[in-house]
Amino acid sequence: MAGRFEGRVAFITGGSRGIGKGVVQLFAEEGAKVAFIDLNEEALGETAKELQEKGYDCLAKVADVTDPDQVNDVFKEVHETFGSVDILVNNAGVIRDNLLFKMTDSDWQTVMDVHLKGSFNAARAAQKYMVEKKYGRIINISSTSALGNRGQANYAAAKAGLQGFTKTLAIELGKYGITANSVAPGFIETEMTKETAGRIGISFDDLIKASVANIPVGRSGKPADIANAVAFFADENSSFVNGQVIYVAGGPKN
Ligand code: NDP
Repeated sequence: MAGRFEGRVAFITGGSRGIGKGVVQLFAEEGAKVAFIDLNEEALGETAKELQEKGYDCLAKVADVTDPDQVNDVFKEVHETFGSVDILVNNAGVIRDNLLFKMTDSDWQTVMDVHLKGSFNAARAAQKYMVEKKYGRIINISSTSALGNRGQANYAAAKAGLQGFTKTLAIELGKYGITANSVAPGFIETEMTKETAGRIGISFDDLIKASVANIPVGRSGKPADIANAVAFFADENSSFVNGQVIYVAGGPKN
């Protein structure tokens, strides 16, 4: 049986671990050719090896989303190798949490650069190929923190900004058969949340327990939960779903 994304090319930023890796795996399993970029060469190589061992087509490159030249070059290579870029998932992310009075200029700028400039760089590079083909799906990974979160003034601003960015892409690109939507995850078990546990000085298990206490479905999220929502927006049949945000967090905050 042909997979849902057979014949499609998906490009994922920050695809070698965590949520990005979950998204890469889903697209590969459902028939897409997958391209992904990341900063960490070792993790990138390991993920690419796992996919190749299963017989999936993939192209993995070290590239920094904040650098427009690197991003443009990779998109060109992906287009030359696979013939199109149909789906873009802007997932690469970092946190530099701190209360406002302790937040440095660098904490602020790094988070803005990776989430906002990075997504801008990749979307601008991708739209060229998508407009040519009159087809595209852009999915930006926002966060429940877009609604505000203590210690995350930089991250909340960037993730809220991404939602406005997404809606604007939806308005500008809709007429070319391109949709843009956001997935806003809640607490997902990844290296990023592990890092948070370390920073606040508790074990990862304790952070999970504390988070789950406020999650209506009574469990934490896994990368596959987010990949599932990304796939909904990426589906060819979702062509009338445009400029939306879906919160994938096990329920509203309680
Ligand atoms: P991880 O830290 O596990 O993975 C993020 C990936 O992004 C890493 O592989 C990292 O590479 C890569 N990356 C960071 N900076 C760059 C860059 N400049 N260029 C290219 N790649 C880069 O995080 P998650 O999987 O948890 O998060 C994925 C996305 O989901 C992020 O946007 C995050 O903000 C968002 N999110 C996560 C939530 C969670 O609970 N985990 C909740 C809500 C949103 P490297 O390892 O080399 O630095």
